[in-house]
Amino acid sequence: MNEQLIKLIELQDIDSKIDEANNNIEKINGEMNFLRETLVKEKEQIESAKKDITNSNILKKEKEVEIASIEEKIKKHNMELNAVKTNDAYKALLTEIENGKNEKLKIEDELLVLMEADEKTYKDMKNLQKEYENKESEFVEKKALFESDLKKSGELVSQRISERKTKLAELPKNIADKYENIRKNKNGAAVVMVEDNACGGCHRNLPIHIIDELKKGKDLITCNNCMRILYQK
Ligand SMILES: [Zn+2]
Repeated sequence: MNEQLIKLIELQDIDSKIDEANNNIEKINGEMNFLRETLVKEKEQIESAKKDITNSNILKKEKEVEIASIEEKIKKHNMELNAVKTNDAYKALLTEIENGKNEKLKIEDELLVLMEADEKTYKDMKNLQKEYENKESEFVEKKALFESDLKKSGELVSQRISERKTKLAELPKNIADKYENIRKNKNGAAVVMVEDNACGGCHRNLPIHIIDELKKGKDLITCNNCMRILYQK
């Protein structure tokens, strides 16, 4: 095989390893970000549940104060009953007492609803907290692995990049440029194998004269359709 072709294949091999390592880095970073975002979201949910409970506690206090004040009024009216002189005034007081009792029942019901809601919020919050703690420790565990993996992949990339520089420098500039251009434009393989007389890149059948030239192994031959550099095993 043409010596430059061998170098190009080796170069491409280095490049695919760089791509692989870069993809791995991207994937790890994506996973880490996803886990981080999940933790942030859950923390926000927990904080919001805590706020709900605090607000509900304030509301409950207010309702208790209201109930106490109504009870005070009822007590006062009950004492006034003994001092009234007219029937009308007596009746009016009884109505006031009755209204007070109804109002108190109404507020007590509201209190009950609040307490039930709190119980649910509290339970949900506890579950969320447990879930958060599990995810957090899972993240800490994974983070160590992720980071060592990132380091390895990063080192691999820089090592391979220096290898590719050396390899590129061994090739004539026009061929190196050609390789770089095809790789950039085709987003990947620039050197492809011919199989059953078809280009391994675009899969079109190749004209006989190209196959013949390829067999001679003298020059670099490109696909007449996709312009990728061809080789045959
Ligand atoms: Zn082709």
